[in-house]
Amino acid sequence: MMEIQRHRLVLITPPFQGHLTPMLHLATVLHSKGFSITVAHAHFNSPDPSNHPNFCFLPLFYGLSDTHISSKNVVDITATLNTRCVSPIKEALIDQIEKANINHEKIACVIYDGLMYSIDSVARELKLPNIVLRTTSATNFLTYHTFLQRQSSGWLPLQDSMSLDLVPELEPLRFKDLPMFNSCDIQKQIAKTVAVRPSLGVICNTVNCLEEESLYRLHQVYKVSFFPIGPLHMIAEEDSSSSSFVEEDYSCIGWLKKQPKQSVLYVSLGSIASWEEKELTEVACGLANSKQKFLWVIRPGTISDVSEWLESLCKDVRVAIAERGCIVKWAPQGEVLADEAVGGFWSHCGWNSTLESLCEGVPMMCQPHFGDQRVNARLLSHVWKVGLEWSNVMERNEIEVAVRRLMVNSEGKEMRQKALKLKNEIKIAVKDGSSYDALNRLVKSILSMNL
Ligand code: UDP
Repeated sequence: MMEIQRHRLVLITPPFQGHLTPMLHLATVLHSKGFSITVAHAHFNSPDPSNHPNFCFLPLFYGLSDTHISSKNVVDITATLNTRCVSPIKEALIDQIEKANINHEKIACVIYDGLMYSIDSVARELKLPNIVLRTTSATNFLTYHTFLQRQSSGWLPLQDSMSLDLVPELEPLRFKDLPMFNSCDIQKQIAKTVAVRPSLGVICNTVNCLEEESLYRLHQVYKVSFFPIGPLHMIAEEDSSSSSFVEEDYSCIGWLKKQPKQSVLYVSLGSIASWEEKELTEVACGLANSKQKFLWVIRPGTISDVSEWLESLCKDVRVAIAERGCIVKWAPQGEVLADEAVGGFWSHCGWNSTLESLCEGVPMMCQPHFGDQRVNARLLSHVWKVGLEWSNVMERNEIEVAVRRLMVNSEGKEMRQKALKLKNEIKIAVKDGSSYDALNRLVKSILSMNL
């Protein structure tokens, strides 16, 4: 134990909610294994150091601002981040190495988010052992390899981007489920992401029982170690602190406590995706007509004035929202999904939301918006069979039918049973199964590089 304490890990995360949260959970887990922790992060969208008194935090100017982030152009943001973060991170790492020497510590490993592929060369140059944390599903990562293989044989992704045909190498994914590979910028980023060869391997926030085949195939093609130690929020059980950028509104938990078991549909599109005002109105009418209870997250900035918009809705809908609904700006999602009043989750299928729902046995209504979300939605509906694939037509009647299919019909009940079974399997994997073993393997691997 004494010897492990002298090993410091530097974890580097981008300024996105869905990336920072799993990185902090990983930090908590590795701290519990005896490592000292430094978390490097952007100077905005920062974690709250008082929630983690045992960690050192290193705010850095990555060359991005929160206005970049609000542009929602993920490809452009990623490209800018990777160009501009290199020199501040290199300087910070050199400084960390010097400080570690003074404190009789050693930088045992740099762990960086997979989105920040340009750190690969920095870690190599400084001769630091390094690991990538992938915060999306293993299957999503596999689609990158398939894309590159197909591209080298002349495949034109644009032609197939709406095709319902199955991708032979990735069944049951269809071409239309793949992340959009049709811009040169995305293609370049994918090539760079796949080219990264972290010396110690890749940590995946996933569980063997969910993605065994994808993990096996990734290992075959990538030829580095994979550590599927997820779900990180579950394995970091001692970390109950919040890493939310927006203040969580706990009043919804009080509201949930007054609702019957499995009666509430939780509606949230995560931290980036959103509906336009016209779509919000269809959602409000569809939810009202479904006669189901609902807890709905409408993030600040989604529309200019939520109260004004609510006032503009017809009387019946306003009454239904007042009687059966609860609207908040940001929810404590972990606690919401764990509450027994919640019977379903209408989600954009971000990977964190997907894992959080699976861990609580809550079936989902899948409405992917972009990126890996389509892959996750397909896994939910066609592999684990705990997610409802609906038309995604943002029209009140379609929404009403879909909500009732999930919350009332036998279809929803079957999905709930399957979700509860998966919840148990995940629990076992974390307690003393595959995730537990992978974590021990990871710790050994870091230590063996530093003997
Ligand atoms: N989240 C939350 N409260 C909300 C909405 C989302 O705490 O009201 C959290 C959610 O628990 C998850 C993260 O924000 O951990 C969203 O990550 P995800 O990968 O699902 O989607 P992204 O925001 O990256 O698209």
